[in-house]
Amino acid sequence: MSYVDEVYNYVVEKNPAQPEFHQAVKEVLDSLRVVIDANEEEYRKDALLERLCTPERQILFRVPWVDDKGQVHVNNGFRIQFNSAIGPYKGGLRFHPSVNLGIIKFLGFEQIFKNSLTGLPIGGGKGGSDFDPKGKSDREIMAFCQSFMTELFRHIGADTDVPAGDIGVGGREIGYMYGQYKRIRDTYEGVLTGKGLTYGGSLARTQATGYGLLYLTEELLKCNGSDIKGKTVVVSGAGNVAIYAIEKAQQLGAKPVTCSDSTGWIYDPEGIDVELLKEVKEVKRARLTEYAAARKSAEYHEGRGVWSIKCDVALPCATQNELHLEDAKQLVANGVQAVCEGANMPTTIEATEYLQQNNVMFVGGKAANAGGVGTSALEMSQNSERLSWTFEEVDAKLKQIMVNIYHNIDDAAKKYGMEGNYVAGANIAGFLKVAEAMKAQGIV
Ligand code: NDP
Repeated sequence: MSYVDEVYNYVVEKNPAQPEFHQAVKEVLDSLRVVIDANEEEYRKDALLERLCTPERQILFRVPWVDDKGQVHVNNGFRIQFNSAIGPYKGGLRFHPSVNLGIIKFLGFEQIFKNSLTGLPIGGGKGGSDFDPKGKSDREIMAFCQSFMTELFRHIGADTDVPAGDIGVGGREIGYMYGQYKRIRDTYEGVLTGKGLTYGGSLARTQATGYGLLYLTEELLKCNGSDIKGKTVVVSGAGNVAIYAIEKAQQLGAKPVTCSDSTGWIYDPEGIDVELLKEVKEVKRARLTEYAAARKSAEYHEGRGVWSIKCDVALPCATQNELHLEDAKQLVANGVQAVCEGANMPTTIEATEYLQQNNVMFVGGKAANAGGVGTSALEMSQNSERLSWTFEEVDAKLKQIMVNIYHNIDDAAKKYGMEGNYVAGANIAGFLKVAEAMKAQGIV
């Protein structure tokens, strides 16, 4: 049996009932075969892949909190410090009822390669809780965030582990957690990113993941003889990533016509009104029915369905495994040219393979959504310097990071004989840097 297959079996055996983690590991290991097989004995002797697939540290904790009626609740807290070979652990916190150990491990594992691709010195980590922020008052959100940080604080630090936001964790939650960290530690340091602009946040961080996704998509199309301008774009999600992907797509002359949330989706053939979407989602924290009620051209549909709309470019920006094989078939039948992932692992393995086999340009989240963490690393730099850069400076660096990522993954795919396979290119380019650092640092 090849070393790659041995390690995949080892991961499945050691991490039972964690299908998302197995899926993320499988995708990476499959594309590393060409690299590993060439030096199989050396990698096996060092157990490099077993070490890469086993978190350096896994922190699980209880998060008790009191609701507005005086009732006590208990949630599970997680922080997976996956790999620090190239820098302090870095990765977001997710608050969503679906969160469990396997989901956080899949996200932490992917983060290792994504962070490596940014070219910046950041290791991989991820965390969160099965807490559901929906329908909670501000005071309840604060109570939860303070309790969560009262345990997490002892494991993180500006040079150790720097969490950020993810699903269910935006500026409000980061603010409450930062306040509690500062209170306990009595230290004003850049321990979290995604902070508010008045207390160490970076301009353009809010926009970074969505904008970065479009910068990469623009470069991808340009280098393949096409142009983002004039393209019809289908987007899923209506959160941080989706909103700013829609905004940048419009700025680049494309026409985004859909968005979605966990209950339904919008088709707006005249193009999404991004200011209205921000009002509904960022200010009112309401359902998309409110968008449809306020805009004549919009249709609202229950359930899922954005992938049925004819488009040139599809950008899944909601959550994992939201684009299935049937959706991929529909997209191909409708003539889609490119699919770039704003969310983490939104496309199933079967759907990814179908898109690739049908010559759709496909860029996975590790590369395509790396602008968020890249800009978080820029926030860390500004905090260390005790300086703030302008929006234009940060945005220009973000664009450069995304253009570099595209060329790195394209070059890696070509070098290993898989031209146009940007998934393999991203996994290989991300892996090589981390593996070299791990080898140099000995058996740790
Ligand atoms: P948000 O919480 O801001 O938005 C998530 C959106 O996806 C919401 O519209 C939400 O709907 C929808 N959604 C969440 N879960 C589901 C589900 N199970 N089924 C259908 N819809 C769902 O999160 P972000 O925009 O920050 O994150 C979106 C994705 O991007 C995630 O995969 C995240 O890991 C990834 N990502 C985020 C980065 C960032 O900087 N924020 C960086 C890199 C990746 P509803 O409004 O109903 O909750």
